[in-house]
Amino acid sequence: MHRARKLEPLPDRDGYFGQYGGRFVPDPLIPILDEITAAYLHFKDDPNFQRELRDLYRDYVGRPSPVYFCRNLSAKLGGGRIYLKREDLNHTGAHKINHCLGEALLAKKMGKKKIIAETGAGQHGVALATAAALVGLECDIYMGEVDVEKEHPNVVRMKILGTNVIPVCDGLKTLKEAVDAAFEGYVKDPVNQFYAIGSVVGPHPFPMMVRDFQKIVGEEAKEQFLGMTGRLPNNLVACVGGGSNAIGLFTAFLDDIAVKMYGVEPSGVGFNAGGHAATLTLGTPGVIHGFKCYLLQDSEGRPLPVYSIASGLDYPGVGPQHSYLKDIKRVQYVTISDSDTLDAFFELSRTEGIIPALESAHAVAYAMKLAPRLTSNETILVNLSGRGDKDIDYVARKYGQEYGVE
Ligand SMILES: *Cc1c(COP(=O)(O)O)cnc(C)c1O
Repeated sequence: MHRARKLEPLPDRDGYFGQYGGRFVPDPLIPILDEITAAYLHFKDDPNFQRELRDLYRDYVGRPSPVYFCRNLSAKLGGGRIYLKREDLNHTGAHKINHCLGEALLAKKMGKKKIIAETGAGQHGVALATAAALVGLECDIYMGEVDVEKEHPNVVRMKILGTNVIPVCDGLKTLKEAVDAAFEGYVKDPVNQFYAIGSVVGPHPFPMMVRDFQKIVGEEAKEQFLGMTGRLPNNLVACVGGGSNAIGLFTAFLDDIAVKMYGVEPSGVGFNAGGHAATLTLGTPGVIHGFKCYLLQDSEGRPLPVYSIASGLDYPGVGPQHSYLKDIKRVQYVTISDSDTLDAFFELSRTEGIIPALESAHAVAYAMKLAPRLTSNETILVNLSGRGDKDIDYVARKYGQEYGVE
């Protein structure tokens, strides 16, 4: 048997993971967040709600997603054996559908009419538009005008799904302005609208709620991995933007102290300000978007510009539970550069026939560094958070020559 050590159930009643999380919001928002918390805690223990969600995970998303042993890649690298949890095979192609369905179903049960959110590259927008179409809710997605131009296919997808895409023309016309506009739109009518946050971030109860909707990833993987190998994995690896796919994989294993966990942040083009989004590696505690976490910030507490080749990872904050797991050293947070990410993107494509999302390729790249340092008895389970179809045109255009594509 494996050794287990029980960690305290988190967050606490006020939404804190150690010193992180909580609610740093204007007073009028407190009763609204209280209402969402109460509804969530009610439906969390409602067998009908849980059955409905489990049925959708199975019949609509296609869960359980498989665990796959990368025989070719492992043999080529030598050392530890690499396995993938295939969230890329979910309907819509990534893990985000897990929490979007949860949030949409909760909003519906709460009697809301409309679900709203911002989106950057459009991945959260598309997953939410999908969930809204399914459960029968109106959907408003706020998107910076620059991103509307850049991410045309996702804009079209959302519109086909019946979502209202609202271009935001303030400031730099990108994600930050979209967050502000979505928030403004939300507070105008919190009675009929539900703000669906796209990761384990934001004020309490969102980090808890989104984690709970994602933890199915690790629960399935644990059972599948035990069934395949008779043991727990020695190492878990997942990329970290806000941290939802990583916490989804980690949660079921947190008490298994022998299982090492690695969260992978993007070091982008280097550790100069604006060249990376290595929040847990280089940030300091601060407040962003209503919660406390490690934050890349200037001397006045304003978020610094961030960058990654993977647009799903370029957030200057990070989930409060990850901030806590770093401090108690339960998870080790490491970095991977753009160029190692691209190598991993092509390596997985060419050895296993699986094109990973650029976000997920960060986790694959770290596993590729770890494997040669392990024995062939040791294992690495990587969360392959999404598929790379969305990234192929960009990669071919910018890096095709280097990798013999164009
Ligand atoms: C959005 C996204 C991420 C980053 O979000 P987390 O909340 O950190 O998981 C990672 N992978 C894929 C494929 C994504 O779409």
